[in-house]
Amino acid sequence: MSAAAGAIEVRRDAASAIATPRGATAPGGLALVQRFVNSVDMEHGVDLWQTPAGLTVWIEREGWATLSRLDRDDLARCVAVREAIRELLLANAGATIDRAALAALNRTAANVALRVAFDGAGTAALGPVSGGVDGAIGDVLAAVVAAQGEGVWTRLKACREEQCLWAFFDHSKNGSGMWCSMAMCGNRAKARRYRTRRRASGGRA
Ligand SMILES: [Zn+2]
Repeated sequence: MSAAAGAIEVRRDAASAIATPRGATAPGGLALVQRFVNSVDMEHGVDLWQTPAGLTVWIEREGWATLSRLDRDDLARCVAVREAIRELLLANAGATIDRAALAALNRTAANVALRVAFDGAGTAALGPVSGGVDGAIGDVLAAVVAAQGEGVWTRLKACREEQCLWAFFDHSKNGSGMWCSMAMCGNRAKARRYRTRRRASGGRA
């Protein structure tokens, strides 16, 4: 079982100071969802959204204009969406879906306006009505809808290692990846299972 096919790459997004040698980048609009969720690196304790100012920098670098200073409420709203989506990504990696996360997403989605827009080729896409935080959340939710329609959503997962929880795109053949990287988190999980078995058998395993 491999969490990501091919070599593990070092991510170094323009919009992110986090460089993490874990997992593969998602294709298309899902990459935005991945960057949104990976705005915090739990394992190394780096959160690009630690303050409203940090969130402002992130939102503007990703291309949404912020007309006014973002505040603690904006931050709390973005973090709530980020962590609710992470729960869905954990479910994509085999965890039980978190009902509270679904309720939180539905509450947020009820307050974010999306509209349908047609491009020059006549292709329709959902997009946010406003900029700033609502624009960011709207684009992320629209990307989730599109990915579910395209059938690629279930490939975006959150690493099942508790200290990690990094969002990764599962390129494995059968789509059964559970860890951002087999070399790191996969082996940690294996080592833990081995220790547990050893203890259960009184050290004879
Ligand atoms: Zn991991």
